Amino acid sequence: MRIDVLTLFPGMILPVIKESIIGRAISEGNVTINVIDFRDFSTNKHQKVDDYPFGGGVGMVLQVEPIVRALRSIEGYQEALKIITTPQGETLHQSLSESFSHQDHLIILCGHYEGFDERVRDYFDCEVSIGDYVLTGGEYAALVIIDSVIRLRPGVLNKDESHQDDSFSEGLLEYPQYTRPRVFEGKDVPEVLLSGNHQAIKAWRDHERLKRTKERRKDLYDRYIKRHK
Ligand code: SAM
Repeated sequence: MRIDVLTLFPGMILPVIKESIIGRAISEGNVTINVIDFRDFSTNKHQKVDDYPFGGGVGMVLQVEPIVRALRSIEGYQEALKIITTPQGETLHQSLSESFSHQDHLIILCGHYEGFDERVRDYFDCEVSIGDYVLTGGEYAALVIIDSVIRLRPGVLNKDESHQDDSFSEGLLEYPQYTRPRVFEGKDVPEVLLSGNHQAIKAWRDHERLKRTKERRKDLYDRYIKRHK
């Protein structure tokens, strides 16, 4: 998989993608990430990429031209899935990340300031928000998308890091997890987890996943129950 990130702040992306599982996926050749500074595509002699909004109002708006020029500089951009980060997009969820993980090539645009000229939208395929709040820039959102997508690619997680039981993988939250010590400040690990009885452990975990989802995410629980009726 290849991911191109269009940003004005490469320094917000580059150090993060070197770390941990994404860093390993890059060094093992599972994914290639290119970070493109679309300021390099400005035709303005001061490399300006933003301007005042027509009609007045506060803040600066990213111009369409440098973004489209940067987009067109990417080899194979026509076939890539082109994503805009914006609080106005579809809220990211596990099945959206899963669908992105089946793509060969993603291009992610990070906005900044007041966002971008409306005409930018015509050159992209979809718009993604990471939640109902406003960030200063799309770099955080791009990193969230990248992380959630890459870990689903075959061969990225090893078998000890499997995502099969993760929250949302079957529409439920994950069951509670424990590790050593068996007792901490009087708090015990549930007996069943020490029993070695795999059937009983599975039954306990299935029950806990349902219970936890019902308590914390009634929307997911109701959908799950409806699907499994
Ligand atoms: N004025 C815009 C609006 O109200 O829709 C918000 C612009 S925001 C300050 C600057 C950039 O941060 C956006 O263009 C987008 O790339 C990114 N951004 C902000 N909040 C986001 C969110 N919840 N999800 C994804 N991207 C976000």
